[in-house]
Amino acid sequence: MGLAKESLERFARRALWDRKRSLMTRREAAEHDASELLDEKESDWEDRAAHVGEAQRLQRLADAERTQLARVSAALDRLDDGSWGTCVACGAAIGEARLRAVPEASRCARCTNHT
Ligand SMILES: [Zn+2]
Repeated sequence: MGLAKESLERFARRALWDRKRSLMTRREAAEHDASELLDEKESDWEDRAAHVGEAQRLQRLADAERTQLARVSAALDRLDDGSWGTCVACGAAIGEARLRAVPEASRCARCTNHT
């Protein structure tokens, strides 16, 4: 493994861990707020509907963060098994600029544009 690749992987590992930590915090906050909204006893039906709508929005947010979190975790696994930086679809090396911008990328730019 060359030095350039090593420093790129070090950068990615740190970036992915930071992403993972902040995603976990945000997901937990969204899930917590959603369940609090739903738990609130509300006699006014309009408020109740607004609460449910807001709770659903927060739940969707939590789902999106969970999806992101899965992508980030998968990328960390690939860093561990040495397959990080290789496109899972075509096996080509993913460009460094793309890996720096999107360290959780599992496909090269070409394969991403074709799915
Ligand atoms: Zn590819």
